[in-house]
This record gives sequence, C-alpha cells and structure tokens, in this order.
Amino acid sequence: MECLACHAVNADRVRSCTVCSASLIPARTQWELDRAEVEIKKGRFELAALHLAKADGGLLQLPASDNYRQFLSARAFWLQGLIYYYHAQTDAAAAEMAQAADLLEGYTGGEGLRAQALINLGNINYYKGHMEVAASYYDQATEMAVLAGAHTAAARAMNNRANIHSAHGQSVDALNLYHAALHQAELSGDATALAGCYRLLSATYQQIGPYSQALEFVNKALSLRGQIDDQAVVCQIINQAASLYLTYGDLEQAEQYLREAYDQARREGNKLLQWEIVNNLIELSRQKGDTERWFNYASRTFNNPSTTLGKTSAALQLVRYYLSQSEAEQARIYVRWLKNNALAADRQLEDELMYNQAAALLHTAEESWGVADSFFQRAIEVAAEQDNPIREAEVCEEYAAMLRQQASSENSHTAASHAEATLRRAADLYRQLGIPSRLQAVEIALRQPQPESRSELAVDKLKQAQL
Ligand SMILES: [Zn+2]
Repeated sequence: MECLACHAVNADRVRSCTVCSASLIPARTQWELDRAEVEIKKGRFELAALHLAKADGGLLQLPASDNYRQFLSARAFWLQGLIYYYHAQTDAAAAEMAQAADLLEGYTGGEGLRAQALINLGNINYYKGHMEVAASYYDQATEMAVLAGAHTAAARAMNNRANIHSAHGQSVDALNLYHAALHQAELSGDATALAGCYRLLSATYQQIGPYSQALEFVNKALSLRGQIDDQAVVCQIINQAASLYLTYGDLEQAEQYLREAYDQARREGNKLLQWEIVNNLIELSRQKGDTERWFNYASRTFNNPSTTLGKTSAALQLVRYYLSQSEAEQARIYVRWLKNNALAADRQLEDELMYNQAAALLHTAEESWGVADSFFQRAIEVAAEQDNPIREAEVCEEYAAMLRQQASSENSHTAASHAEATLRRAADLYRQLGIPSRLQAVEIALRQPQPESRSELAVDKLKQAQL
C-alpha cells in the first residue's frame, strides 16, 4: 500500500507507514474507492457496493479533523449516488450527489469531482423534465471544470447543456457547444470522453443533416469501442448507431445494434439505458409491423414508474397503434394525455409537436379533414420552429397522405394539389438532410396517381344515368 504522505510502498497488512509513520487508512480507503469506481464502470454494481462498504469502514476510523477525509467521504457519496442512478432510483441518487457536492464546496483539488456530482444532479433533473434546473447545474459544472482544467468533466457538462439547447430547437447553440465539448475531450486524451462527444455530434447531425456526417461521427465512436472503460457509453453508442439506421430505414442493421445494446444494458442492470433503447425498439417494431411488440414496448414505456423518459413519444406511438387497430376511442385517451402534457408549465416544443401530430392523426381517422388540416399545419410549424427537419419531413408525409384521402373522398382538386406540394416539401427536406432512401420513397409517392375517388365514379354514373 502506497503511503499518501511520503509515497513509500508498504507491505499489505501494515497499519501505518514504516517510513513516515502516517496512518495508511486514507490510502487503503482511496484504494477501495478506486476499485468501486472501476466496478461501477464495468456495470458490476454488487462488487462496487462491497468495496464501498470497506471504504466506509476506513472513513469511520479516520479522525474528523483529517482534511483528506472530507474528499474521500464526498467520493464515497458520489459513487453510492452513481449506483442508485444506474438503477433509476433517482431520488436516492440525488440525495447522495447533493451531499458530495456540499462536502466539496471550496475544497481545493475537489473541483473535478464536484463538477461531476453537479452534472449528475443535472442529469437527474433532466430525466424528470426539469430542464431549467438541469441547465443551471450544467452551467455551474462547466465553469468549475474549465477553471480547474478538468477537461473530461468540462466536456460532459457542455454536452449535457447542449442537449437542452437542442431540445429547445436552438440547433446552432447546441452544435457550437458540442464542438466546444469535443475540443475539451481532445485535450483530455480520454477515449471515453471523445467517443461520447462523437455520439452526440452524430445524434445532432441525424436531426439536422447531413446524414453522412451523422454516420461518420457514429463510426468514429464505434471505432473507439475497445478503448472505452465505461460500458454505459459503449451501449449508448450502439444505440445511436441503431437509431441512425432506423431513420435511414435499414431495419436489419438497426435491429442487430438494438439487440446488442439491449442485451448489454440488461446484463449490467442499467435500467435507464434500457429505457432509452426501448424507445428505439418501439419504432423498430412499428416499422417491422410487429404489432404485439409494438404495443407492449409502448405501453410499458408509457406506464414506467421510474422515469418519464420517452413517455411522450410512447403516448404518440399508442395513438398510432390504436388507430391502426381502428380503436379511435382508445387513441383519444392518449391524445388527451398528450394535450395535458403539452399544456404543462415546463413544456417543450417536442411535446407540442407530438400533441398536434397525434390530434391530426385522430381527426384524419375520423375524416374530420378541416380539423386534421389545422393540427397538421401547426405540427409542421412547431417542427420548423424546433429546427428539426427530419420530424418536419415526417409530418409532411403524413399530412400529404391525409390530403390525398380528403381529395379522394371530396373529389377536391385543391386538396390533391396541396398534397403534391406537401410531398415536394418533404422531398426537399430529405434532399437537404441527405437521406436518399426516404427521398426515394417520397418520389415514388409523387409518381403514384391520385387514387380514383368514389365520388368521381358516382358523378360519372350520374352523368351516364342522365344520358
Ligand atoms: Zn509515509
């Protein structure tokens, strides 16, 4: 055991340093905490808890006057907080993290760890949908970490802050901050931090295009897999790759990545990550036409008591599911939930977008064309405001499908030409995003003639009858 005071290496069972006679308890406690951290990163939480218990024993033996004890205690609180955090026990995690942050306030040399605890507190608030609180934790953490030269923590805080910009449709701010975080990660030389930055840049370019950039960044992240010590980060990267292939329409590749990510998250008991992956599994099942899984994943996510992560998009999926089963009354329940959610105080543009989209789909199924039309128009406006061209293009496609149904049922040339214009808008967006597979699908739809309408046939028959 290396003495923390004079760095002399002592034999294993010695209680105090044979050179300077300092107690070896701090060194032993620190060693246990290091082991606990390694095990947490490997997802072996039971082993981590064992090391934490031993560290606690050491801490109790240290005199309260020992200055370093404060730092070690803070680290023990932080690690315990991480274990709760990964088990989605967010309130317990927040209490431990807050304790760690308090102990480190003003502690020289503890800035990096304090920044990390603040980031975790930010994340807990983020997952609960308290965006403003989360943003202020991230800002505090960024300032502290940059000043202390704690590059890894700085990169993490900046990335998470950028996520909030992104959720508010501030793509330019988000992108600038993601690139600033990448710079911090490069300074740190830490493969895990670097791969995390690549993943987020991939997700951002996936949303705003070009798709080729998104693919390039996720491939860079995947190429670092062997050097990443945190399995949760590896899982998130695989999940991002899956999400990208899902957007692209390569279901086989997406499914392969999703199975891999889900198995890994489950093996490690990382519940939060499992829910992030399930969000993509819902969409995969829908696109594959696997209705049973589609419904199961969506209703489990919607009813999940431990996190609201993905709840809104699960509600939209349930609306789609029930409409596909011609159960409009069931769908209406979730449209109503989405409406209340969009009216909530800390609502986001995404919530508003999903409500308008869900309401538009419900009214389309009921053939209330005018009402559906206004919900679709509002949904497109919100997507544009959110600077989210991929979602905008998706809504345009659904809007065009509704307009074509309307054109057919009312024999309306106005609706038919409006449908064509809307499809062209979707095509432009996919071209701008650089997604050839989606562009091609829209171009095929554009070439398909307007289905012959029933009323047109009826008019013809009427004319014949008059003759
Ligand atoms: Zn010594």
